[in-house]
Amino acid sequence: MPAVATNLDACCGCQSCNVCPVAAISYDGESKVVISSECVGCGSCMGACPCGVIEMQ
Ligand code: SF4
Ligand code: SF4
Repeated sequence: MPAVATNLDACCGCQSCNVCPVAAISYDGESKVVISSECVGCGSCMGACPCGVIEMQ
């Protein structure tokens, strides 16, 4: 299951999700969090996000 940014309005830009072992998630100031197809579904970014933005789907 890949990570999906489901609640981008809640993203505060803290960049705590920048823990990805394969560099599949990135924060960009405008559209905020972008998750690429490289995601291997480890769940680390979901666990690191304090705002509940990321889900595994
Ligand atoms: S679930 Fe794991 S592999 Fe996928 S974007 Fe998050 S940290 Fe990276
Ligand atoms: S950890 Fe959550 S709140 Fe912080 S930048 Fe990433 S998605 Fe946004």
